[in-house]
Amino acid sequence: CGVFGVIGVADAANFVALGLHALQHRGQEAGGIVAHDPAKGFNSAHRFGYVRDNFTKASLMETLPGPLAIGHVRYSTAGSKAAVIRDIQPFFGEFSMGGCAIAHNGNLTNADALRRELIDRGAIFQSGSDSECIIHLMARSIQTNHAERIADALRRVEGAFSVIAMTRTKLIGVRDPLGVRPLVLGRLGENGYVLSSETCALDIIGAELVREIEPGEMVIIHEGQIESTRPFHAAQPRFCIFEHVYFSRPDSIIGGRSVYETRRQIGVELAREAPVEADLVCPVPDSGTPAAIGYSQESGIPFALGITRNQYMGRTFIEPTEHIRNMGVRLKLNVNRCLIKGKRVVLVDDSVVRGTTSRKIKEMILEAGAAEVHFRIASPPTAWPCFYGVDTPDRNKLLAARMSVEEMREWIGVNSLEFISLDGLYRAAGAEAGRDNACPQYCDACFSGDYPVKPSDQIGKGFKM
Ligand code: 5GP
Ligand code: SF4
Ligand code: MG
Repeated sequence: CGVFGVIGVADAANFVALGLHALQHRGQEAGGIVAHDPAKGFNSAHRFGYVRDNFTKASLMETLPGPLAIGHVRYSTAGSKAAVIRDIQPFFGEFSMGGCAIAHNGNLTNADALRRELIDRGAIFQSGSDSECIIHLMARSIQTNHAERIADALRRVEGAFSVIAMTRTKLIGVRDPLGVRPLVLGRLGENGYVLSSETCALDIIGAELVREIEPGEMVIIHEGQIESTRPFHAAQPRFCIFEHVYFSRPDSIIGGRSVYETRRQIGVELAREAPVEADLVCPVPDSGTPAAIGYSQESGIPFALGITRNQYMGRTFIEPTEHIRNMGVRLKLNVNRCLIKGKRVVLVDDSVVRGTTSRKIKEMILEAGAAEVHFRIASPPTAWPCFYGVDTPDRNKLLAARMSVEEMREWIGVNSLEFISLDGLYRAAGAEAGRDNACPQYCDACFSGDYPVKPSDQIGKGFKM
């Protein structure tokens, strides 16, 4: 998911709509905005579909006045598949000290247990979302201000969270102690501040990056002042390495590094680890493109756009049902036959999850007359599900959980298949000595099975680590 909030500018909701539009790659199912105006109070709108189809309509935006607004773009992760409008964030709660809206990116790993406990104690849940627990935990806190109540609530949850919240006068941002999901602070004009999942959304509204919110940090922005607190026990940060590989936009900056440059560097590492004699390096668009450029540069094999993507389709993976996903590949990708015919092609993609994309692409490339197909993957085999906010399927649907690399090669039906090593990926992401196995610098659980936060709800459902 993506979160975006603005304080201290006229018509904040307009900026939030633009910011969410720039974060649309983080969630395409639905979007919501809550705004506050001193005269008109809290107003909200929650809609299915793209931000541009909903939140650009003057009639809708006029209903969201005020200098303070937050928003959310949604992508449903484990546990909340059935999309209903009640699941769309931000969520809102009335408290004795006034209303408060929250938007959450990430996934809480003890939400099922918390939900049961809260319902038993009288909470009335409105949605199926794990994030709603935060509002109910806030309601049970005895603190006298919103920020302290948020801190109380977040000390009880486990998992990954970048949360932004707004009261009548404050914009609040928090990252979980491991900092699994991103969150940055920006400055907008004279008096405005912005919180955003990624820096690319600051660019679109002309805001300036101030810094990242640190893992375990809470910032409270009020009347042009920023207060920073540390509500949690300190921990070794474990940022999601898959944000570098796939999830974030390539024009974003994470930890002072360009995401594009990390991806290009992954391609360079891949070319060193897994060279092959071939005529062309082609990306699987768009997520494989920077790595393919790096592979081509390092190997000296010419880069070519052998596959064209229909720009008007969404990201296939993010469509919630398997059926649509299966149709998706052909609707979305097409091979440039003239380019491919008779060629030995290196295909670079970011990841293999179920393997259905890879298999269909291989078919299309062979139909187009390629002489050989060599798959190179910009991440290690995805053998474990993510429980921290990326929608990987159950373990038994992950190709790499069931097969060795050689078995996958045979099943996909390509001449060769190689994945970047975990160390190679770490190096590309800036950890020069590779993965520190005693104290890993990133979360890489979907590749290693090393879960930095125990997925307790899943273990309750029989998941074995
Ligand atoms: P599959 O192997 O399941 O057919 O799909 C892999 C493709 O899904 C890759 O090209 C990747 O770009 C795309 N993808 C989209 N969203 C995600 C995601 O959340 N996780 C992973 N691992 N891949 C995703
Ligand atoms: Fe990111 Fe994978 Fe960790 Fe999930 S399990 S947070 S996708 S690195
Ligand atoms: Mg892809």
